[in-house]
Amino acid sequence: MLINLLDIDLDTFQSQIAKAGHQPYRAKQLWRWLFKEELTDFDLMTDLAKDFRLFLSNNYEVTFPSVKFDHTSTDGTRKWLFDVGTSNAIETVFIPEKSRGTLCISSQVGCALECTFCSTGRQGFNRNLNQAEIISQLWMANKMIDSTSSQHKPVTNVVMMGMGEPLANYDNVVSALKIMLDDKAYGLSRRRVTVSTSGLVPAIEKLKNDCPVSLAISLHAPNDFIRDEIVPINKKYPLKALLASCDSYLENAPRDFITFEYVMLKGVNDQLEHALELVKLVKNTPCKFNLIPFNPFPKSGYECSDRSQILAFQKILMDHEIITTIRKTRGDDIDAACGQLAGDVKDKTKRTIRLIQEGKR
Ligand code: SAH
Ligand code: SF4
Repeated sequence: MLINLLDIDLDTFQSQIAKAGHQPYRAKQLWRWLFKEELTDFDLMTDLAKDFRLFLSNNYEVTFPSVKFDHTSTDGTRKWLFDVGTSNAIETVFIPEKSRGTLCISSQVGCALECTFCSTGRQGFNRNLNQAEIISQLWMANKMIDSTSSQHKPVTNVVMMGMGEPLANYDNVVSALKIMLDDKAYGLSRRRVTVSTSGLVPAIEKLKNDCPVSLAISLHAPNDFIRDEIVPINKKYPLKALLASCDSYLENAPRDFITFEYVMLKGVNDQLEHALELVKLVKNTPCKFNLIPFNPFPKSGYECSDRSQILAFQKILMDHEIITTIRKTRGDDIDAACGQLAGDVKDKTKRTIRLIQEGKR
């Protein structure tokens, strides 16, 4: 069986080719062709020796999930649905802005963490994506977006904010992140790659040493009482432990603040006393807040806070010197906004939550 080159890391590839008698530096050459030049045909990789090209085609291949649909919003936001087999599909979103292009990447088919306001969470969980399926989203987006007007690849920033909880698929996410950061592949700066997590504390501690990138925490509540309800993983890793892990993460992070994401749910977590409670909660943690207007989906049972309430909430945080932005909703007309990514999830068996409950993660 051929090995998909997108599914192994550079060290593994180097040792495989060395075993077969080829120079290890060939692996780096191949990576450049594959990720920088976006070539997959070994015969076009002109500086590779013929016998090495033959070895490659006998043992390796480069395969991608196929595109089930590709929609562009009136505001330029683009969303793809990628087929990842057995009737499952994941979503990837590209958000173009003047000075950057941000790709929102999925890490799992569905999500097992069941945050009550999240469409992905409501879908249930099928499985983790492998390294190839994660990095393919970046490879294909760069390839499919017209970049003729620019010297650079269109994707300049990556946020792991698509379907799934990235830190519940730790090994595959970290190996894909390493490809994003590696100069021989995408060479993105650690500041431009963000992992968003609902708060898997042990994995945050691990990420700090294995692959520190920008960190966003889905906080969404000012106290354990509300957070237990809307972000159930809080029962396992309550706010005190979560904030301690944020402080520790900052010791080795590429940015000197944590971004706290906060979805604005009318009558649930959007009261002005909640904002004051937040100020106290984060007083020792350098941070910025990003308020996310709740994006509705059928039968969610929630409503978005009124605009005036969001602005008043923001003002309280700002008055206490916490930089607070309100996320612009993009891709509204193609359901590409935060929390609306539903993909196509079959066999929703919630395996991750079982593993967590059994204490295996
Ligand atoms: N699992 C990770 C990353 C994916 S979700 C996490 O939870 O952080 C990306 C962001 O969108 C998270 O902050 C998530 O809480 C938020 N989100 C989920 N559903 C939403 C909705 N319906 N409206 C607005 N934001 C939502
Ligand atoms: Fe999973 Fe994040 Fe959605 Fe929660 S908000 S269910 S962790 S994808």
